[in-house]
Amino acid sequence: MSAAAAALENSGRRDIHVLRERGQREVFCGLTGIIWLHRKIQDAFFLVIGSRTCAHLLQSAAGVMIFAEPRFATAIIEERDLAGLADAESELDRVVAALLQRRADIRTLFLVGSCPSEVIKLDLGRAAERLDGRHAPRVRVLHYSGSGIETTFTQGEDACLAALTAQMPAPASRSPSSPASASPAPASRSPASPASASPSPERSLLVVGTVADNVERQLTRLLAAMGIDCVSFFPSRCSAALPAVGPGTFFLLAQPFLAVTAAALEARGAVRLAAPFPLGVEGTTAWLLAAARAWGVSQARFRAATEAAAARAGRALEPHRAVLEGKRVFFFPDSQLEVPLARFLARELHMELTEVGTPYLHRAHLAEELALLPHGAVLSEGQDVDRQLSRCRAQRPDLVVCGLGLANPLEAAGMRTKWSIELVFSPIHGYEQAADLAELFARPFNRAARLRVSA
Ligand code: SF4
Repeated sequence: MSAAAAALENSGRRDIHVLRERGQREVFCGLTGIIWLHRKIQDAFFLVIGSRTCAHLLQSAAGVMIFAEPRFATAIIEERDLAGLADAESELDRVVAALLQRRADIRTLFLVGSCPSEVIKLDLGRAAERLDGRHAPRVRVLHYSGSGIETTFTQGEDACLAALTAQMPAPASRSPSSPASASPAPASRSPASPASASPSPERSLLVVGTVADNVERQLTRLLAAMGIDCVSFFPSRCSAALPAVGPGTFFLLAQPFLAVTAAALEARGAVRLAAPFPLGVEGTTAWLLAAARAWGVSQARFRAATEAAAARAGRALEPHRAVLEGKRVFFFPDSQLEVPLARFLARELHMELTEVGTPYLHRAHLAEELALLPHGAVLSEGQDVDRQLSRCRAQRPDLVVCGLGLANPLEAAGMRTKWSIELVFSPIHGYEQAADLAELFARPFNRAARLRVSA
């Protein structure tokens, strides 16, 4: 059974059709993740070992977003490196030493692999080990691959967080009881049971995936209002103080593209709480509910903590629903956010889904999302850009969500587009961002209306 078929089986949805595409990929590479990761992790530096193309990609992707001294750079592999004429290792050691001497604020240095470093088989794992030994304890040196070969751009964050996961300490104190006693309460468990009223202090909640700082504060407030206060975010602003992970750690994914990181956390004994993703009002409520159930929070307390914020967010969606209702949207596979976004657009803004393309359909992580998609939704997994373009042109959707490379030709063909990468750069999680997320989709229609009026 294919992963996509298994995902649907898992979600109990047999009415959803999945096209499986295995053609050419046309997406950015994992280096792109450095743009939002370096803004989040304030004491980390990302050193790409790559070509001028890699440097150009980073500079143009970061573009207008740099407002301080950047915490990323590219160590350029020159032709003589490619020809094996230079000692790449000693050159890398020299560059790193100079960088760390100049930047005393760096606590974690990521050596980020690229297509060229992989082509010349530069062993960045060994280099990171060597440099870590040399610069510890002031700086931790890690490595991951941001290479564009057979990946999509959000996988860079997954690889980065998976590398950090290996550095997370074990919890300092263990519950004397067995790990099974720290299992999440089943959904049907009485919310008012004595065990649930006083959760074990060894339990902790980890929110996994980069979210904006204001989103982190809002989610922390909502969880605290439910009585869940041993909460950490991963990644956080400070990479030097990583949260502990082990039995007793429960984690909620904030992003749907963290398969490797989730597996690494599970290998450390952490338990994933299954939930839709916190996009839109409904997604945020269901995501918070997964934590509430695991902590045995009473329904009354859950409602008291969330109802006002959910109602406010629901009201803020109304003007955007007026613009988007009934409009047809087509997703090209790009960010891996497509399925949760499609669920939000269909259920909360009443848009019609023509096709929802996603690079990978993770059978377990998306099961709750798939269960919420409208009847008969068409998904496509993987990419074959020519076939997808033909289907898109035939459908003539009102809005196309796609990568930058496809947006201009589609606009030239008279279609409205939304860059999917914008949805990764923008704060879109949680109640207070639900209307902002809707506005990102409404913006092309609002702009077109303004242009018509002024024409
Ligand atoms: S890592 Fe590969 S795909 Fe990405 S910019 Fe460098 S050469 Fe291009």
